Amino acid sequence: MKYLIDKLHKNKTLEREEFLTLLQNRDEETSEYLYSLARSISQEQFGKDIYLRGLIEFTNYCRNDCYYCGIRGGNRNAERYRLTKEQILECCQIGHDLGFRTFVLQGGEDYAFTDEILVDILKSMKAGYPDCAITLSIGERTHEQYVKYFEAGADRFLLRHETANEEHYNLLHPDSMSLENRKQCLRNLKEIGYQVGTGFMVGSPYQTLECLVEDLLFIKELGPHMIGIGPFIPHKDTKFAKFPAGDVELTRFLISILRLMNPQALIPATTALGTMDKKGREKGILSGSNVLMPNLSPITVRKKYDLYDNKICTGDEAAECNCCIRRRVSSIGYQIVDQRGDHPSYS
Ligand code: SAH
Repeated sequence: MKYLIDKLHKNKTLEREEFLTLLQNRDEETSEYLYSLARSISQEQFGKDIYLRGLIEFTNYCRNDCYYCGIRGGNRNAERYRLTKEQILECCQIGHDLGFRTFVLQGGEDYAFTDEILVDILKSMKAGYPDCAITLSIGERTHEQYVKYFEAGADRFLLRHETANEEHYNLLHPDSMSLENRKQCLRNLKEIGYQVGTGFMVGSPYQTLECLVEDLLFIKELGPHMIGIGPFIPHKDTKFAKFPAGDVELTRFLISILRLMNPQALIPATTALGTMDKKGREKGILSGSNVLMPNLSPITVRKKYDLYDNKICTGDEAAECNCCIRRRVSSIGYQIVDQRGDHPSYS
């Protein structure tokens, strides 16, 4: 497999069949070789710097019903909450004091946050923290809405495509949602000028290696600035409760492939990876990730933003998470930098 990895390193892509062969023949030796190459590419680009994104989970109301997600609209057991603008700004203040220079507003698709309200929140965040980048992760909206948020100060947008295979997409989502719309949203966001992040779950129900190859090829075509992937983890109140979780080593393998394909991309070692393995986030960095997304949400709502079972860091104050994350990063010889951490093409 080494020749395929070298070819991927050189050309930044492979043919569909070659990607499949690589994924089919994953073993320990191949993995270690791939991880170390990805690590060195990441270090060429970013040194041993790791960027932080402070995650503010501002609402768990959702109009959608993605079958895998614990906060899907149809889950009657979910205890719903919304943060006020004041609470969001307080999270920013705490984060800013801890050195964070990027805030991610993430939530379900909650239309109670009208454009007017969102624009007001974004403008207040921008005014209060002009040295910070703001990322939105609020799902699908119209082109016109995305423009409004961009003009109000949002710099970046995270919208995972979840799976690039249409049949697979339809097994994970209700009829009201479509892969085509998701892709159109991503194209719109790019065209407007956002730094755009996409990504997918690893090991979601019915996923095949062919699906993952399609994910890689879709990401190649889109050319996102950020790529977030993490293992699927079942949630007890979903119809996928009994499905197995995604594999940590396969997730690392894919992070490394994505790093070889996208040397400059911002690739987080996700909370889901940290949930599946105590050292998951460190392992992510050691396979090519260069971003961490610690939680800044108020402790009172942490457990309610319950995307999947056993999510980590739901009991710790932001300051504790901050210490823990800095300790973890330095334990593997890396350092956190208190910067916005824009994509190289934006800075
Ligand atoms: N409503 C926003 C944010 C979704 S939550 C949006 O649509 O983009 C952020 C991400 O969590 C999702 O994109 C999904 O990939 C991930 N996620 C949801 N449920 C999950 C599960 N059960 N296991 C692992 N990841 C999950």
